[in-house]
Amino acid sequence: MQKSAFPSYRGRMEYVCLGCGARRSGDSLLYTCPDCGGVFLLENLDFAKLKEKSGQAWRDTFDERSATAKPALRGIFRYYELLAPIFDEEDIVFLGEGQTPIIEASGALRDQVGLPFAYKNDGQNPSASFKDRGMACAFSYLKWLCRRQNWDEVLTVCASTGDTSAAAAMYAAYVGAPLKSVVLLPHGKVTPQQLSQPLGSGALVLELPGVFDDCMKVVEILAENYRVALLNSKNSWRILGQESYALEVAQWYNWDVDDLCLFVPVGNAGNITAIMAGFLKMYDLGIISRLPRIFGVQSEHADPVWRYYSVPANLRHWEPVTVRASVAQAAMIGNPVSFPRVKKLAQRFIEVGGEQAFQVIQVKEQQIMDAMIMANRHGHISCTQGGECLAGLINARHLGLLGDNAHAVLDATAHSLKFSGFQQMYFTNTFPPEYEVEPNPGLANQPELLLAEDVRKGKDVATFARLGAEAVVARLGLKSKNA
Ligand SMILES: *Cc1c(COP(=O)(O)O)cnc(C)c1O
Ligand SMILES: [Zn+2]
Repeated sequence: MQKSAFPSYRGRMEYVCLGCGARRSGDSLLYTCPDCGGVFLLENLDFAKLKEKSGQAWRDTFDERSATAKPALRGIFRYYELLAPIFDEEDIVFLGEGQTPIIEASGALRDQVGLPFAYKNDGQNPSASFKDRGMACAFSYLKWLCRRQNWDEVLTVCASTGDTSAAAAMYAAYVGAPLKSVVLLPHGKVTPQQLSQPLGSGALVLELPGVFDDCMKVVEILAENYRVALLNSKNSWRILGQESYALEVAQWYNWDVDDLCLFVPVGNAGNITAIMAGFLKMYDLGIISRLPRIFGVQSEHADPVWRYYSVPANLRHWEPVTVRASVAQAAMIGNPVSFPRVKKLAQRFIEVGGEQAFQVIQVKEQQIMDAMIMANRHGHISCTQGGECLAGLINARHLGLLGDNAHAVLDATAHSLKFSGFQQMYFTNTFPPEYEVEPNPGLANQPELLLAEDVRKGKDVATFARLGAEAVVARLGLKSKNA
């Protein structure tokens, strides 16, 4: 087989309801079960056929594909057969998503934290968050569907804590007709950078008062009663695309994940479920021989999943929480739509990998900010959710949950630039009290104006340059080369 040939294997995708077990064909767009309202997972009915090939052969295939020149296989669909193997090459939308690097912490940072770890920079995706992984799959599905159904207009809608709408609007703008994108945002609850993204992509941006959970309810009413394509976590095609994260981590470490501990921020819980699903598929196919450990991380200001898992199994009960202000704003969700998926996948993860394979860690807002600032002062590009992961790692270590051989991989789910406002609040000590963050003044970093504006006025370049240089020399205490 030619290295870059598009795969000939095709699966048959079916929705499986996690509430009542009902099954529906993957040929139509469904979000929640029409029978019971439960959320779906997508299942490939012909997954067993993939087992006819050995784990080694799959590893070789994916390693060979990393040299492909085909755009359709360059991103998340390097792992085509394990994701949504129904699309044709022409359906696949590739905007550079996936294959993000994993950067080892520097020696100094590793010593501060006390064990080796790395950041997977999912902020290096095209819209600067991991949401692009899911959108690439969801939009490929929409293209596939439009082609089969001859649709002439499809309105895509999502509610968002910021990054989903940025990604949805970007992919919709790229695909163009018949797709049009509308995003619903909680007014004042996304960062200016995140807001600029769907605006720049030309989406219709509608704002409502309240928090994300409120917007989500509105979108659900729309999706149930009107002809719109919902692009929230309930869209299980997105979850499939996000499984690529797990596959990339395994491939980066040469398919040896035995000692890996992955830290993942949990908001709607789509990401962590996708990551677990991806590892389970690799395990089922013999691509990896053991599961890594997965640690979900939540802020104490939005911690329903932590609360559920923080008590012994027989005492657990599910209850949404009312969120408080969180710097991990993209994960500030009190009623995660994917919680049934977490339960299902965590159970399987623990069955295969043991009690330690899935755990949830709670962190404080203060820790999130301190950790993000510390990471970025050591060359990372972590967002606040990535800071949450580092805080989770530090807490897990103090709780004695990590063995000597543990190597942690933290999910920096977005680029630091999207959350620069929180960095600014930290540096200028301007956090509103509800965040409960006291900046460490030693870490404040501000530009210093060396000369007043009017010093430049009326001077030629050479004169001003001399003054400027003198000011820099004085500030830095530089010694002359000739002295
Ligand atoms: C969406 C998002 C999260 C939360 O992911 P879930 O799948 O909702 O749990 C975390 N970080 C960033 C940057 C996000 O955009
Ligand atoms: Zn159902």
